[in-house]
Amino acid sequence: MMVSMNGVVTKYETDVCIVGGGPAGMMLGLLLARQGLDVIVLEKHPDFIRDFRGDTVHPSTLDVLDQLGLVGETEEVPHRDVADLRTTFADGTYRVADFSRLRTAHPYIRFMPQSDFLNVLAKAAQKLPGFHLLRSHEAIDLVPGGGAIQGVRARGPDGMVQVSAKLTVAADGRNSALRRCAGMRPREYGAPMDVLWFRLSRAAGSARGLDMHFGPGKVVLAIDRGDYWQIAYVIPKGGDERVRVAGIEVLRQSVVDLIPDLADNVAELASFDDVSTLTVRLDRLRRWSEPGLLFIGDAAHAMSPIGGVGINLAIQDAVCAARVLGSGRSATGWPSRRILAAVHRRRWFPTVGTQLLQRIAQRFLVLPMLDSTEPVKAPPPLRLLAFFPWLQVLPARVIGIGLRPERVARSRAPHRLSPRQLRT
Ligand SMILES: Cc1cc2nc3c(=O)[nH]c(=O)nc-3n(C[C@H](O)[C@H](O)[C@H](O)COP(=O)(O)OP(=O)(O)OC[C@H]3O[C@@H](n4cnc5c(N)ncnc54)[C@H](O)[C@@H]3O)c2cc1C
Repeated sequence: MMVSMNGVVTKYETDVCIVGGGPAGMMLGLLLARQGLDVIVLEKHPDFIRDFRGDTVHPSTLDVLDQLGLVGETEEVPHRDVADLRTTFADGTYRVADFSRLRTAHPYIRFMPQSDFLNVLAKAAQKLPGFHLLRSHEAIDLVPGGGAIQGVRARGPDGMVQVSAKLTVAADGRNSALRRCAGMRPREYGAPMDVLWFRLSRAAGSARGLDMHFGPGKVVLAIDRGDYWQIAYVIPKGGDERVRVAGIEVLRQSVVDLIPDLADNVAELASFDDVSTLTVRLDRLRRWSEPGLLFIGDAAHAMSPIGGVGINLAIQDAVCAARVLGSGRSATGWPSRRILAAVHRRRWFPTVGTQLLQRIAQRFLVLPMLDSTEPVKAPPPLRLLAFFPWLQVLPARVIGIGLRPERVARSRAPHRLSPRQLRT
């Protein structure tokens, strides 16, 4: 990385400039630096702390961490391993996904703050000589030249910055600024719901795991986070204002109607300041690359929260991109349009397939529940899963592993660190 000052703009040169230090950007940065490349990751926030982001590390992501020798690091921070997903209807509780049936080294979902997960990646990456994380740097524009994107301009704490790169990767999330700068618009598939997030304390002896409760006009997911429940309260699309006007007491009562065990805890919801709203989106780009520019993670495809698979897909995109870019470099010169398109080609099926399953669940499960005025019984497919427990491996597989898990490429860099060195 070369740095020069011209009094106005700080200039950097690198092999790959990644915009966004979320799961996709940090994983890609680590993997490319492991291959011996010089990588700059620009992250607009000063830290990784975000309340109510995806806090799930799925079995296939744990496998990736295993391949990097990093899974032990996630055990050293507070976490909760959850092995099943249950649904409760008027006629009883049904287990629908049993992760313990997966044939994998880590047959559970690990819940841990996303900031801790990203810190594990950052700590490992910062041991590699080519990796540079520039926090508090917000990319605001692309730098075009010679028919390709040549880098980005960013606003840093000490003024403007220009990063020149052979490849720019947009991993800047569902509201991607680079997508706007490139004039690319994702195709929107619509979602019938939004989600209110809040937390309520959890008594030691309470039920464990993931519990999804369905009632008249309501769907509530309670996520066991050890000493508290993370609650996802699903509301009809655009219904946030209505819920807030109705008042906090109505929300509290509505939670208790569905989960009576929380009656003693709902008073902890003092006001709507304790409630965050997630506007659900489901979209994807038709094309994930332009010459010199690649989109991955939420910037390429925002997922519905059904299954909580957004992080997993973002990580798998990064693993795939690192492998394709690594192998493409030696063969044809790098990065050609064809190589960038190869990332999209490989990740098209898992993205489209997962979004299709989410749209089916939204249409035939969530929407009828939100529209119902009477107590609802479990739909036949869910009862079937309870009757034949071995079938519970299928939803576990789709949620926990995904439709196309990716493997980390073996690094060919001369200064590659061993998994043991990465840990220390
Ligand atoms: C409330 C909520 C709950 C969720 N729950 C789950 C869950 O339980 N499980 C799950 O798997 N997924 C969940 N998701 C989705 C999941 O968080 C995302 O799918 C995943 O984080 C996508 O990773 P990413 O790296 O592509 O993007 P992001 O995680 O969005 O990361 C993008 C990064 O880019 C940075 N950035 C943005 N613009 C710029 C810029 N111009 N310059 C520099 N940096 C920039 C951002 O600060 C951010 O750090 C949830 C999302 C939300 C909002």
